[in-house]
Amino acid sequence: MTTRRKLIAGNWKMNGLKADGLALAKGIADKLASASPNCDMLVCPPFTLVAPVAEAVAGSKLAVGGQDCHAKTSGAHTGDTSPAMLADLGCKYAIVGHSERRTDHAETDAVVKAKAAAALSAGLIAIVCIGETLAQRDAGQTIEVNRSQLNGSLPEGADAANTVIAYEPVWAIGTGRVATPAQAQEVHAAIRAELVKLVGAEQAGKMRILYGGSMKPDNAKELLALPDVDGGLIGGAALKVADFWAIAESC
Ligand code: PEP
Repeated sequence: MTTRRKLIAGNWKMNGLKADGLALAKGIADKLASASPNCDMLVCPPFTLVAPVAEAVAGSKLAVGGQDCHAKTSGAHTGDTSPAMLADLGCKYAIVGHSERRTDHAETDAVVKAKAAAALSAGLIAIVCIGETLAQRDAGQTIEVNRSQLNGSLPEGADAANTVIAYEPVWAIGTGRVATPAQAQEVHAAIRAELVKLVGAEQAGKMRILYGGSMKPDNAKELLALPDVDGGLIGGAALKVADFWAIAESC
């Protein structure tokens, strides 16, 4: 029997102006005020909306996080946001190493590791994303790629309280093509086995590993029931209160 409490995390990406974002966050926080799905819930708005959303849901059961953070606390880094700034706004989490950041901003495992370490130093929980491309899967490299990214991206001092892993097959993100339960469980189990080596059996057994990639209300239940799937990192379906809530209720 697992003691891992599931986490349902919404990654809004570069979506939402103030009115939509506030309505979405308040809609979820309101539902959490009168119902308790069997999971923690988190929204990661674009940086422009982190402050208003954090203010709007302060005191509710809905947590707020950043979609990225810089590896430094402050300094000459135009356009960047430090983990201390996110924490200052009331954020509890920061996503690091999302495949869109790895691709759009050429973020390497070393960069992701530094960002994750900075997030931990600021008291945030780092959600470290890893995942293979379709070409890598087709070449039979799925497990090797995920192991390697995990080894390269996991910060020193990572434990189950300060770090969450998100397995996001790149070919499943925003494509409507979801991993089969067998594919997801195979990789999640391999990640957990690698975590045993990296953080020890006790922490590996407690650390949450989220699945991300076209998770929707109609496929969430099956994925979330898998033994090593401890929640979801959700893009498209996190932009509608009803869909995001339905996924949480599948836990
Ligand atoms: C994501 O952005 O991390 C993601 C999994 O997106 P989607 O749910 O839209 O595939």
